[in-house]
Amino acid sequence: MVYSQPEHRVSQCTLAARIDYVGVGLHSGRKLTTSILPAPPNSGICFVRRDVHAEHALIRASWHNVVDTRLCTVLGNEHGVTLSTVEHLLAALRGSGVDNALIEVSAGELPILDGSCEPLLKLIEAAGIVSQRLPRSAIWIESPIEVRQGERFAVLAPGDWPRISVDIEFEHAAIGAQCYSVELHDQIFASEIAPARTFGFASDLDELHGQGLALGGSMQNAVVLDDDGVVNAEGLRFADEFVRHKILDCLGDLALAELPIFGHFYAYRPGHRLNNALLRELFANRQAWRRVGYDEALRRIENNESRRLAASKSRSRRFSLV
Ligand SMILES: [Zn+2]
Repeated sequence: MVYSQPEHRVSQCTLAARIDYVGVGLHSGRKLTTSILPAPPNSGICFVRRDVHAEHALIRASWHNVVDTRLCTVLGNEHGVTLSTVEHLLAALRGSGVDNALIEVSAGELPILDGSCEPLLKLIEAAGIVSQRLPRSAIWIESPIEVRQGERFAVLAPGDWPRISVDIEFEHAAIGAQCYSVELHDQIFASEIAPARTFGFASDLDELHGQGLALGGSMQNAVVLDDDGVVNAEGLRFADEFVRHKILDCLGDLALAELPIFGHFYAYRPGHRLNNALLRELFANRQAWRRVGYDEALRRIENNESRRLAASKSRSRRFSLV
């Protein structure tokens, strides 16, 4: 993980070499080719559809380009060109500390691979990550913002290191109520979140197939549940793999803010629509956040930490006087 290397933390990073991979699209069932290329500083993450006219092909990975959130996060540009299922690759790039990359795709969907971020992290690790020696910026949350959709809600609140906490509740006995909270640094994303696969219910598959969706969905790329439990012979990778995958999806959706967010994201039963609504609320409330240098964000964390230490020392002094 790039964030564990101090010299990489405060500078923008890109890949050291291009990555090429092939996989099946979850919804189209088609074989898709994808290439991730290094990109210049300050260019962010951009997608290029190779199957449409070059003038219409570019789609920036940004919150205001989200055009559909029903089954996955779909990005679109002003020419009506779209790209589906971007969230897992965006989570892998954000989790690896890649700020700038150009992603070429052969059609309107990204490969689902095994339904997790693990294969993507391995590809990124093999390619390597290089510092671009230009400062990395971040979003520092100053005051809380919240969005609600029925009983679902999501909050971004001030906090030090980027943290994601999620609560989910499903009627299904294999899932039930699960909660998980992680600080996104060092190896935590790679070990605790990236291996968690997407999941679906066998009973929903017929309906989705009828709509021409999830045509590539299988136990090779998702945890499948029926009335009796998990159908996959290999079982689960974690007992709470479902909520961990929700955290992965949230990280991918929040990457559409285009900068790392220093604050605490908490969501109850999140989905792609809720996550995008939260980013729209964030950028509509200019007083709720500040754009800071990544180095300044790290200094603020250190200062807060030392203030907390000083406060706890003065509390213990008071106790010793009593
Ligand atoms: Zn997902």
